[in-house]
Amino acid sequence: MNSLPAPKVCVIGYPIKHSRSPLIHNFWLKRYGISGTYEKREVAPEELAEFLRDLENNGFVGANVTLPHKESAFGLCDEVSDEARQLGAVNTLYQRDGRLIGHNTDGEGFLAALDQEAAGWDAPLRRAVVIGAGGAARALVFALLRRGAEEVAIVNRTLARSQEIAAQGGPRVTCHSLEDLPELLKTTDLLVNATSLGMVGQAPLVIDLAPLPPNAVVDDIVYVPLETDLLRQARERGLRCVGGLGMLLYQAVPGFRLWFGRTPEVTPELRALIEADIAG
Ligand code: NAP
Repeated sequence: MNSLPAPKVCVIGYPIKHSRSPLIHNFWLKRYGISGTYEKREVAPEELAEFLRDLENNGFVGANVTLPHKESAFGLCDEVSDEARQLGAVNTLYQRDGRLIGHNTDGEGFLAALDQEAAGWDAPLRRAVVIGAGGAARALVFALLRRGAEEVAIVNRTLARSQEIAAQGGPRVTCHSLEDLPELLKTTDLLVNATSLGMVGQAPLVIDLAPLPPNAVVDDIVYVPLETDLLRQARERGLRCVGGLGMLLYQAVPGFRLWFGRTPEVTPELRALIEADIAG
């Protein structure tokens, strides 16, 4: 009897050495006893189109896409999901009827982490403040709008970048400079850092959290280090905190489900595995 070949998936980036996606997906493959593989593939920008065209012929049922290919891969898909279209970027690819479908799971991962780690964070969700207006911030803004935020206030160094998101997001998205923060924070339910500040090797994000209401949630999507200065300050003030590791883990769930047919769980054991890897 012929059996189907074990599904094969890869993560594509340039460079790809530091990707933690294989650790996550191979943990789940082992845990659920699924015979599939998940590997890293370093693909240079000039090789991306050919690599994706041959994805299925090379035996891959799908792929994750990371820097710097998220936007280019979007343009190479036969079809994209609504989430990917809003962002102009894909991080998850799969094949359906010989067509390459692109999806973006960053927003879903971000919301799932908040749901798991700060239950009730969105009731009410009158104002969310997102600091940053890069690729990640864009995913967060649209996810927060989908979740029903009355206002998503973007605070970014370069105003033009936040205005571009607001033009697409509509009247619930407002744009601000850093000087506006103290006033904004007084009536903020959720504060998110989506800049690269606070990452290892970068300056910290310095904000006075004093004006935040005591029931506010502070989320930093940076995950190296696991606890940024911003989160430490929030924790010391007694605010509920969410780090970036949850988003990293939950954004992987939809891809695994699509390729391997099972919804995987984010367990303390998986968290510990990735935390140990980050700690080096
Ligand atoms: P990006 O597109 O390069 O955007 C970087 C953002 O940071 C921009 O808003 C930029 O402001 C701001 N920024 C950088 N340096 C700054 C400085 N010195 N002062 C003020 N603002 C500064 O990056 P991205 O892809 O959106 O990623 C942003 C962060 O999210 C990274 O730390 C990344 O690791 C993290 N991330 C986490 C996850 C997760 O799963 N947890 C997923 C994706 C990303 P300007 O617009 O003014 O340049």
